[in-house]
Amino acid sequence: MNQVDDTLAAWLDSQADALDSDHTQADQLLATLAASGVFGAAVPVAQGGAGGAASTAVALAAALAEHSLAAGFVFWAQRATIECLLRSPNHDLVRKLLPSLLNGATAGAPGLSNAIRSLSGLDQLHAQCTSTAEGSVLNGTVPWATNLCRGGFVAAIAAINPASGSPAIFAVPNDAAGVWRGDDQDLLGLRATNTASLRFENVPLTEHWLLHPHAKVFLPALRPMMLAIQCGLGLGLARASLVAARRHTPGQSVLAFEIGALEDTAEEFWRTLSVALDGGWLEANPTALFDLRLNMVGLATSAVQLELQALGARAYDRSAGSGFARRMREAAFLPILTPSLVQLKTELAKLGPASVSPSPDNLPI
Ligand SMILES: Cc1cc2nc3c(=O)[nH]c(=O)nc-3n(C[C@H](O)[C@H](O)[C@H](O)COP(=O)(O)OP(=O)(O)OC[C@H]3O[C@@H](n4cnc5c(N)ncnc54)[C@H](O)[C@@H]3O)c2cc1C
Repeated sequence: MNQVDDTLAAWLDSQADALDSDHTQADQLLATLAASGVFGAAVPVAQGGAGGAASTAVALAAALAEHSLAAGFVFWAQRATIECLLRSPNHDLVRKLLPSLLNGATAGAPGLSNAIRSLSGLDQLHAQCTSTAEGSVLNGTVPWATNLCRGGFVAAIAAINPASGSPAIFAVPNDAAGVWRGDDQDLLGLRATNTASLRFENVPLTEHWLLHPHAKVFLPALRPMMLAIQCGLGLGLARASLVAARRHTPGQSVLAFEIGALEDTAEEFWRTLSVALDGGWLEANPTALFDLRLNMVGLATSAVQLELQALGARAYDRSAGSGFARRMREAAFLPILTPSLVQLKTELAKLGPASVSPSPDNLPI
C-alpha cells in the first residue's frame, strides 16, 4: 500500500490543522493510522506485515505527510520502532512486541536522538544501565520522544554501561516501575504527536528488554530506513505545497516555471531515494544518505516558499484557511529533526565529498 485510502485521507484533511495545533487527538491519530493498516508497510509477511520493498514505507510516509506532517511523523515513530525490532537479534522480545506495534495497540517511541548525537560526538548519553546483583537498573533521561501514548508505549533508547563504557539499545515499556513520562512539550506545531520527555529512576531491566548489545553496530544499520522515511516526510510536504502553489498560479505567471522545475526535482529526488534504498546502496554510502536527507529539507522549504509567493497576502490571512500557515510550521520542524541540519553538515564535513552523487542513472543497481 503506497497511498492512503480515501477514508483516512478525508479524516486527515479534516483534522490536519487540529493535529498540528492541539494535542487532544494524539491517541486518536495513532489509532486511526493503525486501523488503516499502515504500520505493516515493508514488514515481511512472515513477521505479520504487508511485505513490499523498503521504499513502500517511504512512499506511505510521503502520502501521509501530504495531508498532515503530524500523521507522517507518528507513522515514522511507530515504523522506526518496528524497524528496531526487525533488526534485533532478541527473538523472544520481537515475538512479544511486534504484533502489538503492528496493530497499534502499543505505541512505539524511538528516543534515539540523544544516542545518535552522542555517537557523532555532539552530546553525552543521558541514560545509564548499571549491573546489580539482581540484574541491571536503568537511570537517566530521554529529553525528547514522540508517540508516548499514555495508554501504553514502548520506547527504544540507548543506555551506557559505566563499567564497560559501551552503549546498548533497550526497549523500555511504559508500565515498568520507575518510568516517568513528562507533560506534553509545548510545541509550535505537531502537537498531536504525544511528544514529551522520559525519566528513568532505578528501572529494573533484564536482558529480556535488550534490543541490541552494541549501539555502535545497531544505529548505523538502522539509519538508512530511519532517514529514508524522514525523507518521505519532507517529500510529502513539498508535494502538498507544490499542489497548492500550482492551484493558485496562472499558467503565464513567472512562478509557473519555478513550480514545474521543483516538481521535477521532487520526483527525481523520489526516484533516486527509492532506487538507492531498495538496492541497499545507502547502507554502505552514508555520505549519499546524509546528502539526500539534507536535500529533503531544502526541497520542502523551497516548496513552502513557492506556495507563499503563489498565494501572496492570502497566505498571511488566517481566515482564508489555505493550510499554508500549518505547512510553514511543519516545514520549520524538518531542519531540527534528528539528524538536524547542523548535525548533517557536521557529519558531511567529516566524511568529505561523496565519490559519486546518487542519481537513478549512476546507481550500481
Ligand atoms: C516535535 C519534536 C519531536 C521530536 N521527537 C523526537 C523523537 O521521537 N525521538 C527523539 O529521539 N528526538 C525527538 N526530538 C528531538 C529532536 O530530534 C531534536 O530536535 C534534536 O535532538 C535536535 O537537537 P538540538 O536542539 O541540539 O538541535 P541541533 O540542530 O542539533 O543544534 C542546535 C544548535 O545548538 C548547537 N549545539 C548543538 N549541540 C551542541 C553541543 N554539543 N555543543 C555546543 N553547541 C551545540 C549547534 O551549534 C546548533 O546551532 C523531537 C523534537 C521535536 C521538536
